[in-house]
Amino acid sequence: MNISFLDDRGSLVNFYEVLNIPPTAEKASVRASFCALIKIFHPDASGIDSEDRRRKAHLIIRAYKVLSDPLIRAEYDRLLSAQRRADRPGFAVIARARVRYSVSLEGLLRTRMLNKRIRRNERLRNFGQDVEVFITPGEARSGVIVRIDLPSRMSCPLCYGEESECHVCHGVGRISATSAVEITIPPPIAHDALYEFDLMKARPDRFTAFTMKSLKTRICVIGKKTAGPTSPQH
Ligand SMILES: [Zn+2]
Repeated sequence: MNISFLDDRGSLVNFYEVLNIPPTAEKASVRASFCALIKIFHPDASGIDSEDRRRKAHLIIRAYKVLSDPLIRAEYDRLLSAQRRADRPGFAVIARARVRYSVSLEGLLRTRMLNKRIRRNERLRNFGQDVEVFITPGEARSGVIVRIDLPSRMSCPLCYGEESECHVCHGVGRISATSAVEITIPPPIAHDALYEFDLMKARPDRFTAFTMKSLKTRICVIGKKTAGPTSPQH
């Protein structure tokens, strides 16, 4: 099968936007979205015929062909992520050492304990954020990309919860893990700014999920004075 990933002007089409789904969407959501959209836009289904609708229907079909085939989708995803990188060339990549976890999240990562919601509420009450990221004034002007390791849970790769005698998960069916989420913050970034990222949409893969639903990230621009009651010792 040879499907073009490009539009008339030679730019990469964002098929996820065409189907109105996140890049993490699983096959069933790809199909559900395709079926809903094709009903609206296909001239045969909608009864309304126009050049625009025909074009749109063709695009929806093309998006479905690309995103429903694992091999074609993998190739497309590679190109899309390469383009994303090219789209934000000035963004600084922040080293892991400049990410500071609030104390209880650090403990969570260290002990690999499953997240308890109470713990997070406690953490947010004490710190106001889950992590702090330290950036320079130059990086605040250019925008940043930060990879943050977070506790996650994945289906047991050995038994998928089918084996009560499993020596990997001890019959629980899931194991604790650590997964990275990559967050992009466009410029300009203000000192002490607080961002909340939805981790439900950022599943590392279909077998893994973060134990936290969202991540509150505070930005500290190095050299600026931090005011506010939420910041711990400085
Ligand atoms: Zn197992």
